[in-house]
Amino acid sequence: MAGKTLLCRTVGGDFFHEGPERRAANRGGQRAGRAGDGTGNGRSECEAMSASSGQAGNGAPLIELRGVRKVYGTGTAAMEALRGVDLRIERGEFVAVMGASGSGKSTCMNILGCLDTPTSGEYWFQGVEVGKLTRNQRALLRRHYLGFVFQSFNLLKRTSAVENVELPLIYRHAGTRRHSRALTALKQVGLTGWESHTPGELSGRQQQRVAIARAIVSQPVVLLADEPTGNLDSARSVEIMLLLRSLNSEEGITVIMVTHEPDMAAYAKRIVHFRDGLIEKDERQHEEEVCSP
Ligand code: ADP
Repeated sequence: MAGKTLLCRTVGGDFFHEGPERRAANRGGQRAGRAGDGTGNGRSECEAMSASSGQAGNGAPLIELRGVRKVYGTGTAAMEALRGVDLRIERGEFVAVMGASGSGKSTCMNILGCLDTPTSGEYWFQGVEVGKLTRNQRALLRRHYLGFVFQSFNLLKRTSAVENVELPLIYRHAGTRRHSRALTALKQVGLTGWESHTPGELSGRQQQRVAIARAIVSQPVVLLADEPTGNLDSARSVEIMLLLRSLNSEEGITVIMVTHEPDMAAYAKRIVHFRDGLIEKDERQHEEEVCSP
């Protein structure tokens, strides 16, 4: 998955509107996409957008924040959660985001995940300025490029592991491939044999694995993980970190993970420290410093 870039350069125009033209564009995108993986829907639209931006494949970083500010509230109640953040993340990085509570980590992750927009400044994704996209286009970007893992797993309780993992594909019209892709994702996270179990029949560690399978089933370029080990003891946390590490190194998924725990951050190749709405420190770890199994 590393180096997944812009496959649809020949497609021009605005492919983000709904309707028959959009569906036709999707079909075209599938043909232009990777053979047989069925991920062409929507992603090719984003790729077309990248291509038409003129920066695609032109050395644009995967992610770039330029002077991002976020202000909550107005007037005397205004609260500046981010105060001009500059951040550049390349494909294939594994970044831990650390900082005291209230330092702006979640606000930054929400912006990176297209769940919120900056008050000012720019967010660029693969050479596309996200602030210039419509709400629907941002939803497509989220759905086709980003995977999310949360502290609290957020699984449907009465639904089997495999059906939980299939969920994101329902919105992608993955059709008959949905089930087999969910099974593959469960295998990737080491849960073969547990497919028909409901979350209540699984341990916390296994539930987080299901949540990770759900996040990777749509083959995202970036995995955004918010305290993924916050509900696990340290032995289980290490297992999850090793899984994220292997998704990063084997599958080429860029991982951006918020954590409070230095022990968990030690598994990342880079640690970005937030303080009072700004990046205070940005450290790259040498290979020998990164925690190994
Ligand atoms: P962290 O994730 O590092 O704990 P946050 O990004 O959640 O920090 O919060 C940064 C600052 O913004 C905090 O002072 C917090 O109270 C404030 N904040 C976060 N979300 C909101 C919101 N929706 N409305 C008002 N203030 C908020």
